[in-house]
Amino acid sequence: MKKISLVLLLVALVVAFFAFDLQQFLTLNNLKAGMAQFEAWRAEQPVLVGAVYFAVYVVVTALSLPGAVIMTLAGGALFGLFWGVVLVSFASTIGATLAFLVARYLLQDTVQQRFGRRLQALNKGVEKEGAFYLFTLRLVPVFPFFVINLLMGLTPMPARTFYWVSQVGMLAGTVVYVNAGTQLAQVNALGDIMSPSLLGSFALLGVFPLVTKKILAWIKRRRQRAQYTPPKKYDRNLIVIGAGAGGLVSAYIAAAVKAKVTLIETHEMGGDCLNYGCVPSKALIKSAKVAHQMRHADQFGLNPAPPEFSFRKVMQRVHKVIQAVAPHDSIERYTGLGVEVIQGYARLRDPWTVEIECRDGSTQTLTTRSVILATGARPIVPPLPGIEGTGYVTSDTLWSAFAEMDTPPSRLVILGGGPIGCELAQSFARLGSAVTIVEMGERLLTREDTDVAQHISATLHNEGVLLMTDTKAVRCEKQGEQKVLVVQRNGSEEVVPFDALLCAVGRQARLEGYGLEALGIETNRVITTNEYLETLHPNIYAVGDVAGPFQFTHAAAHQAWYAAVNALFGHFKRFKVDYRFMPWTTYTDPEVARLGLNEQDAKEQGVSYEITHFPMAELDRAIVDGATGGFVKVLTVPGKDRILGVTIVGDHAGDLLAEFVLAMKHGLGLNKILGTIHAYPGWTEANKYAAGEWKKAHAPQGVLRWLERYHAWRRGRRAST
Ligand SMILES: Cc1cc2nc3c(=O)[nH]c(=O)nc-3n(C[C@H](O)[C@H](O)[C@H](O)COP(=O)(O)OP(=O)(O)OC[C@H]3O[C@@H](n4cnc5c(N)ncnc54)[C@H](O)[C@@H]3O)c2cc1C
Repeated sequence: MKKISLVLLLVALVVAFFAFDLQQFLTLNNLKAGMAQFEAWRAEQPVLVGAVYFAVYVVVTALSLPGAVIMTLAGGALFGLFWGVVLVSFASTIGATLAFLVARYLLQDTVQQRFGRRLQALNKGVEKEGAFYLFTLRLVPVFPFFVINLLMGLTPMPARTFYWVSQVGMLAGTVVYVNAGTQLAQVNALGDIMSPSLLGSFALLGVFPLVTKKILAWIKRRRQRAQYTPPKKYDRNLIVIGAGAGGLVSAYIAAAVKAKVTLIETHEMGGDCLNYGCVPSKALIKSAKVAHQMRHADQFGLNPAPPEFSFRKVMQRVHKVIQAVAPHDSIERYTGLGVEVIQGYARLRDPWTVEIECRDGSTQTLTTRSVILATGARPIVPPLPGIEGTGYVTSDTLWSAFAEMDTPPSRLVILGGGPIGCELAQSFARLGSAVTIVEMGERLLTREDTDVAQHISATLHNEGVLLMTDTKAVRCEKQGEQKVLVVQRNGSEEVVPFDALLCAVGRQARLEGYGLEALGIETNRVITTNEYLETLHPNIYAVGDVAGPFQFTHAAAHQAWYAAVNALFGHFKRFKVDYRFMPWTTYTDPEVARLGLNEQDAKEQGVSYEITHFPMAELDRAIVDGATGGFVKVLTVPGKDRILGVTIVGDHAGDLLAEFVLAMKHGLGLNKILGTIHAYPGWTEANKYAAGEWKKAHAPQGVLRWLERYHAWRRGRRAST
């Protein structure tokens, strides 16, 4: 309503301006003709005339009315160069900012909602370099100013930035026109004021800052790279540092296309995922789920049996699982595939030379055309006072630290309510630990929608996990024999006793110790790469956790394809890494699987969406399996079946998501999923039924009414409705 009133007011003002032919006053001839009268008023009431002039100028620019140039000349003629520039500079900038704000208020939401996704690149560009672009536009008179004001209002540029850049950018032009106004009698046409050479100088001035910035960045890169001379010959086509998911897949691809490739690993083949991450955590989750099912066997008509077990054996199974998967990532396998594997610590000596401190104590130096850095990440340990004294485990150390324990820790405190924290909290609770999650944020799983996080919180709570959200860990202490975590909650300190403290507050990229600093390779929490995954040195690439933006095994493997292909064949064609369809799963019970946008992303990005919701409680297979908690939630483009994103909460959610990944990647909408046969009684039917819910909501009601009449007519009766 407010918006409509504002539109009506603006339209009325503009219509009045033209209806009363007010623009006749804003012509050069009329200005000259009225000059004597204006000067007389100014001599009598200088402040009042100055104020009225200022206000009229603001209104003319704010309403994007023609005549700002004449007003500027008038400013010079009436108030002289100094005061003319002051008045015009402020009035024009305020007017422009008002126009900018009005456009933003009226249209930005609509434009960003409608085109939000497509505008992402533009929005990012404006966030990064918008001030430079605006400055250029202000000085290069290609677009009329009122167009710039209105268009900039639709971008995410802060009003403050718009204001000051406009004021500075318009200053040179203002001085020229105000100065011309001081000699109004000699101005015969507006075109005379700006000579082509003056216009050219302005254009140069306009592009200068942007071009300078680009040139300086280019010089910096050149200078960094010029310090090194490439060797005449190379020992290898590719050296890969780190044999986790990213490194293994990179080396595999290189060997498959017959490149000479060396893979260097300082620790365990398979990296985090195999040794400390996905594999052991999922093995533990399985044991914990069996224990949970035994406890609740009565749900399936069996006598419930409190699980009796030695935790040591559970951990032994975890290690057996690692050993069973290990051959997939082993030195033997990769050597067989044609990859040279060296066990040792690698350092970059220059962009083409890698020095390896081998495990046997020798040092080897190899030259290579390209390098892929796949050095991964390590758990973050928060710098809490006293934490070293009380001790802690991380996802790296818990598998060995707990390996010899006959029972799980009685009281386990987990710092961090993200995916790793939640998965491990549920597992340890099911295996008998009293688990507390301490989370600084207001809820668990902050990347997921509130309803999803609530579902998982409720499940954990029902299984006995104590959830302390909005809670800040302050320090660790020993109180007598007892270890405690002191937390701050609701403004006061509380004490949480523990036997074991697990840090799961995130993982930081490994960035030190292997030559990034010396080579000038930029980092910003992860190694900075471009869309081809190249670092500052275009023959050095980075993938996986060390490169971000995701920290998943499949993301590392996905990037590995781009890095390996660009490293080996980039001189023919380079490929930009594509993250559009990146799924991920949190393996709590029920699982949470995600793809594309969820509601909170869509709102943040201003993308319009419709939601289709299908509860697992209505799925036959979920009822059969006694696993009715959860739902399929699909975001689509309003009125269309095009999928924007999917969240599935439920048993097998991670596997169910695959159908949506395929659909989204290949542009298939919900109608196509609905038209596909899904075996009964399968979990995948949940996807089809979600598509069915969408279809029901979009059934053509008008056509259906006609069909009802048609059938009634065929029966020889009148339709009841
Ligand atoms: C508890 C937990 C559960 C997880 N669960 C999942 C899951 O379910 N699904 C999922 O997709 N992801 C999961 N992850 C994340 C997944 O493990 C990582 O995203 C993945 O391992 C990243 O692979 P990477 O190749 O980037 O790095 P890494 O696997 O960390 O490998 C890097 C390797 O580089 C080596 N290295 C480092 N520096 C050097 C050097 N200078 N010289 C030689 N070698 C070096 C390291 O020793 C390491 O082996 C989980 C992680 C954790 C901790």
